[in-house]
Amino acid sequence: MLLGLSKIIDCPGATVDFSTSVDLSDLLYGTCYPVSEPVLASGTVRNTAGVLVMQGEIRTCIHGVCDRCASDFQQDVEFPIDVVLVRELANEENEDEWVFPLEGDNANLEEIVRTVFVLNMDSKLLCKPDCEGLCCRCGKNLNDGPCSCQKEIDPRLAALRQLLK
Ligand SMILES: [Zn+2]
Ligand SMILES: [Zn+2]
Repeated sequence: MLLGLSKIIDCPGATVDFSTSVDLSDLLYGTCYPVSEPVLASGTVRNTAGVLVMQGEIRTCIHGVCDRCASDFQQDVEFPIDVVLVRELANEENEDEWVFPLEGDNANLEEIVRTVFVLNMDSKLLCKPDCEGLCCRCGKNLNDGPCSCQKEIDPRLAALRQLLK
């Protein structure tokens, strides 16, 4: 999936729009492959004073298994694309910028989308940021409310109370 940029490469101010769909269903997170739907990417590459700047967005819906409570969940995700395309990668490149090399006069859209997606995705999949997870003793999903083992008194504390009587 190459995006031809020969029209704008020597033409400051010129732009090329792009819109593509990338298959990232081979990305493994924990024990599941959550990117089962196509990943849509769209935006514009602009020659800004001789520098090729690619901006746009990536969106898809992930179907994951929560790392904490093990329930299935769906989540729409959207990440910005903001990268610079260069003819050759040089060591003195600003490390704050995401820089990708051109292939001839083309940008490799699939590689850029894949990299931006991976860098933006949390390595942990959670059904919600504040997921309570499962009780480590009874296995109850604590998102559904507290379980009964939390009311039990720690046996060491119980012994101490006996001594204090
Ligand atoms: Zn969860
Ligand atoms: Zn419990």
